[in-house]
Amino acid sequence: MKKRTKRLAGMLLTVVMSMGMVCNANALTMEEAEQKADELEEQKEAAEAENASLSQQLENIIADMNETQNQLTAKEDEIEAAENELVQAQVAADNQYESMKIRIKFMYEGGNTQLMEMLMTSESMGEFLNKAEYISSISEYDRNELIKYQDTVKEIEEKEASLQAEYAELQTLQDQLITQQNEVQTMLDSNEAQLEDIQSQISENEAVLEDLRAKAEEAKRIQEEQAAAAASGGGSYTESSGGNVVSGNGYFTHPCPGYTYQSSYFGEIRPYEVGGHKGHDYAAPTGTPTYAAAAGTVIIAGYSPSAGNWVVINHGNGLTTKYMHHSAICVTAGQTVEKGQQIGYVGSTGQSTGPHLHFQVEENGVAVNPDKYL
Ligand SMILES: [Zn+2]
Repeated sequence: MKKRTKRLAGMLLTVVMSMGMVCNANALTMEEAEQKADELEEQKEAAEAENASLSQQLENIIADMNETQNQLTAKEDEIEAAENELVQAQVAADNQYESMKIRIKFMYEGGNTQLMEMLMTSESMGEFLNKAEYISSISEYDRNELIKYQDTVKEIEEKEASLQAEYAELQTLQDQLITQQNEVQTMLDSNEAQLEDIQSQISENEAVLEDLRAKAEEAKRIQEEQAAAAASGGGSYTESSGGNVVSGNGYFTHPCPGYTYQSSYFGEIRPYEVGGHKGHDYAAPTGTPTYAAAAGTVIIAGYSPSAGNWVVINHGNGLTTKYMHHSAICVTAGQTVEKGQQIGYVGSTGQSTGPHLHFQVEENGVAVNPDKYL
């Protein structure tokens, strides 16, 4: 009894150990899934920080755009005012020109008509002033007034031109801001897509973790049941199955009756196995009883990193059977078993991607197709 309790304690330890072990490339262990969850959470935080920074940039650009738009509106008002001023100055200059021409015409009435002709056919104020240079009789006052009016027009024209240039500069600035806004918006969109992707990975990983936790919980429950059975002193593991189970009429009984779905076959080539699969894998829920295929002596009942909790039975004449990945085993090395006697419970210990019984048959140490005996 003492020996059995010790063995169960050892088994419990191996099961606990195996929970954190690597199964294969496709499946994550709980430890790996938890690490992945941490990494994804970090990625999410970084992406969220970037999102905040981009949003801030976008806000700044929009504030700049509003400021530039205000300046553009103010500049438009200034230009409009300058244009009105220019019109007024031009009107005043024209009026001065016209009244000057009338005064000159009056002064020369009946005089030199040829000179009058020359002055009155001037195309512009400038031309008139040039020609008038030669006419001493034109009053100094009139000439200076006309020059003054013309200078005012020129001044306003220059002012308007410089306002137009400022406006064009502001417009360029606004165009640049619009380009920046589009760029930041594009980055923000891609950042948001990235965030969505991380969130979906987190959800996926959470589902995997939940599944792994449920499996660990189930393995623990089975261990506790076994410990309770051992503590009650009965030591009988056949209670749940109600005795020997022999099925079919082959030399072997099925080691996992009722679970004929094979997730893998003898000889199947799998990437992580050398020389093909050495037995049949029967997919069954954790805790499903497993049975000795034929009468014999248990030669191994223990734990191995690859086979998990496993049992090897010697049937004599060089024939042995191996049963792997149990959540718990209920025979001990050296013990004789009958055909169909329960030897353990299906699990996923060792190198396994999910609960199943790996059943292997060997003739003189060479794996053969179990179908030969079933
Ligand atoms: Zn297998």
